[in-house]
Amino acid sequence: MSFAQNFRGPADLHTHSSVSDGTQSPRELIFAAAAAGLGTVALTDHDTTAGWHEAAAAVPDAGITLIPGMELSTRHGRVSVHMLAYLFDPENAALRAETEKIRAARMTRAATIVSNIAADYALDWEDVLAQTRPGTTIGRPHIADALVARGHSVTRSAAFDTILHPRNGYTIPLYAPDPLEAIGLIRAAGGVPVIAHPATGSRGNLIPEEIVVQMIEAGLAGLEVEHRENTVEGKAWLRELAAKYSLIETGSSDYHGAGKPNLLGENSTGIAAVAEIIAQGTGCEPVYPR
Ligand code: AMP
Ligand code: FE
Ligand code: FE
Ligand code: ZN
Repeated sequence: MSFAQNFRGPADLHTHSSVSDGTQSPRELIFAAAAAGLGTVALTDHDTTAGWHEAAAAVPDAGITLIPGMELSTRHGRVSVHMLAYLFDPENAALRAETEKIRAARMTRAATIVSNIAADYALDWEDVLAQTRPGTTIGRPHIADALVARGHSVTRSAAFDTILHPRNGYTIPLYAPDPLEAIGLIRAAGGVPVIAHPATGSRGNLIPEEIVVQMIEAGLAGLEVEHRENTVEGKAWLRELAAKYSLIETGSSDYHGAGKPNLLGENSTGIAAVAEIIAQGTGCEPVYPR
């Protein structure tokens, strides 16, 4: 079926389920997206495609188009860069191997963070596992939820602002591939790479323009311009970059269920941008309701 026949907006191209650090199952997320009035939603769990099958199965009943995706962890030096990837082949061996490597690193990193915290607070690995389901991509949000369950913090966000804040020294960085390598892997798998929330930091924490140019040369497709954590000046810079280098501009919620205040559809991506992503994605197809 062609895109033109099937596209329905609005489109929210960045959401998380309980397969990573969202709080709703992929099926619940698809129904929540339809209930929020969206016509198209991308599922972009961190470093995994494990939710794709369940989400796709909910599409006919929910009556919403699904764009399968992922938010891949990458790092440029000290700056963490989240790379959204759409419509890639989930069976691609090289990309799978890298995501498995990142997920394995997440496990040892989370265990280290928990033992660091356990020196000062009652908390153990079982508390964290209790916040996940089998196969979940583990991250600091699950440690935060465990801190809430133990009564050490009031909410996930409060845990991030206190015990999990880097200034306290419990948290350690995550292994992640270079963004250029990640872009190459995504494109080789037929996917469409878009930098997630590229302008959340202050000036010194932004990706330098010459690095963005290298990413474009490596195959970067777009920038997530409309995201609540991008700064006002940052969004202006991203729009300039998008115009200068003919990049796709997206807008999305980064919904995490009850794990973050972000609401489904609070930002959306225009029809031409969605069409371009679908045109460039050759690793798999969007899942249409009929
Ligand atoms: P990690 O995957 O361990 O690097 O943790 C990063 C994740 O933590 C992000 O994907 C966010 O979903 C989440 N996160 C970061 N800061 C906050 C916050 N202040 N409140 C809630 N969730 C957060
Ligand atoms: Fe997250
Ligand atoms: Fe992110
Ligand atoms: Zn995200």
